[in-house]
Amino acid sequence: MSLQERSATERIQEARELYVSRGIGAASIVVERAEGARIWDVDGREYLDFAGGIGCQNVGHGDAAVVAAIHAQADRYLHQCFMIGAYEPYVEVCRRLAELSPCVGEQQKSILVNSGAEAVENAVKIARYATGRPAVVVFDNAFHGRTLLTMSMTSKVLPYKKGFGPFAPEVYRAPAPYPYRGVSSDDSIHALETLFKNGVDPASVACVVLEPVQGEGGFVVMPDDFPARLLDLCAEHGILYVDDEVQAGMGRTGPVWAIEHYGVEPDLLVSGKSLGGGLPLAGVTGRAEVMDAVHAGGLGGTFGGNPLACAAALAVLDIVSDASFRARSEAVGAAMWKRLARIAAANPAVGEVRGLGPMLAIELVEQTPDLAKATLDAARERGLVLLSCGGYGNVIRLLAPLTISDDDLERGLDILEEALADASGRAR
Ligand code: PLP
Repeated sequence: MSLQERSATERIQEARELYVSRGIGAASIVVERAEGARIWDVDGREYLDFAGGIGCQNVGHGDAAVVAAIHAQADRYLHQCFMIGAYEPYVEVCRRLAELSPCVGEQQKSILVNSGAEAVENAVKIARYATGRPAVVVFDNAFHGRTLLTMSMTSKVLPYKKGFGPFAPEVYRAPAPYPYRGVSSDDSIHALETLFKNGVDPASVACVVLEPVQGEGGFVVMPDDFPARLLDLCAEHGILYVDDEVQAGMGRTGPVWAIEHYGVEPDLLVSGKSLGGGLPLAGVTGRAEVMDAVHAGGLGGTFGGNPLACAAALAVLDIVSDASFRARSEAVGAAMWKRLARIAAANPAVGEVRGLGPMLAIELVEQTPDLAKATLDAARERGLVLLSCGGYGNVIRLLAPLTISDDDLERGLDILEEALADASGRAR
């Protein structure tokens, strides 16, 4: 084929093969531009985006206020390093996070970093320093990142851990509740109590880290009673409760933070993904005594809390904390739930529809990735970008912008329904 006959997608994918490490998972779409819930590829094909760059576009691609804030900041300065030249957007993001914090304690403080993994690492560093204890307790199906410590905390072996050991020490794991697969809150609490007898002295545990809705692990929603029971267990042993809301936070489940559904006040909150509206920003928030425990200079980094990302975050925080955003996202969640329930009722391959607010997924009965993968491929052919998740890759998750229009939502759900029916060989 001559050079002219290759599509732009083919040309870029060929160059990708040559120059980009295969260790990075390969995308099928090469993006030209994006707006709201839509993306266009370099060959002019239009897609509905129910992935949002893995949950980073809760307010939609290219929100006008977010883009204007980035432009205004770009005209002033791009980088200072907050430890060298302080700047107000960083302080303002921390002030807004304090106002919105679900954590226990009067005065709330934050640090800002570049990624969810870096934020989780810092939450552990802070918890270790504040308690003087080394150990960390995490759960089955957890995803906390890909750095050495957070990879060690992450549960799934392939692709996240295989070949990358040795892992960080002092990370202990217990089963998380997973009602659809037979693990209850009682089972999980009992396993933690057993872990504290047979695995690790609870007096040496700095923190437990839990996602209120496990994201990469399969959109597994923690049962109503579990966070409160976990918090009680933490209180009994002087352990800090770290709430990892990198994926479930920033309005994804309706309220700004998913933990608000549970009426529980964690010690530390980890935020990320949609916080920066598409720019890299993540944070750790908690009460001043804990956040101030570390010596000056013990936390930080060159780019953490970059001014552009902070300017974007201030606009995003305004949007997601507004009552109208929550009302809209709850309406989106209700419409999705109704349709997913209908899809499940018509297709025995679907085992469960679950989620919290608009953070919804369907789990397929078979614990293999095949049908989910075929559905994602069929959906993409029809113009919808979807993601799978779960320990077996058999969960299809919806991470559409929560600002999506009714028409785009309906069309995306139509495509999902068709794609799943086709992939599972069922007539519609
Ligand atoms: N924690 C949770 C719950 C996540 O879902 C993720 C990413 O998917 C992370 C941490 C890591 O975030 P990042 O990829 O920004 O390092």
